[in-house]
Amino acid sequence: KELTDINALADEYLRLAYHGLRAKDKSFNAVLETHFDEKLPKIDVVSQDIGRVLLNLFTNAFYAIQKQQQIATQGYKPVLSVTTLQKENCIEITVKDNGTGIPSAIRDKIMQPFFTTKPAGEGTGLGLSLSYDIVVKGHGGTINVETEEDNGATFIITLPI
Ligand code: ADP
Ligand code: MG
Repeated sequence: KELTDINALADEYLRLAYHGLRAKDKSFNAVLETHFDEKLPKIDVVSQDIGRVLLNLFTNAFYAIQKQQQIATQGYKPVLSVTTLQKENCIEITVKDNGTGIPSAIRDKIMQPFFTTKPAGEGTGLGLSLSYDIVVKGHGGTINVETEEDNGATFIITLPI
């Protein structure tokens, strides 16, 4: 573990995910909103692992936005917002998209290994289960999801300081 600036890590992976996707699909675009707590303390984490967690959250969010973009009516404005803040003895990272959302019937399954709704080749279903291991087992944090169908998904990660 090493002392890590979570804002810088999130910013780096957000841009990586967005530009990676845009390189493949020029018509894809989304507004990226970042609300980074400037006073966020650096925390001791395996930064490569937390980076993978963030990258998967961003990739999932962009995927859901892309799908929503394909079915949405004209006025749809895709937004991915990333917020960091300090809350008592933890830092909280919130990743919110206005993509397809997660149907209630599958909400309990998304953290399971190999659970995916993506076609073969587009998803392994390992992202969130790996994230759970990294955040909860590896760092003593939490990972939670809030979602409304048709109104996107919000993933909230906390990591102890
Ligand atoms: P994968 O991305 O390979 O499918 P994940 O473990 O990252 O695997 O995600 C599992 C499933 O959870 C996805 O296939 C999708 O159905 C759902 N999911 C995750 N994030 C989102 C999101 N932001 N919006 C809608 N569905 C999501
Ligand atoms: Mg994924």
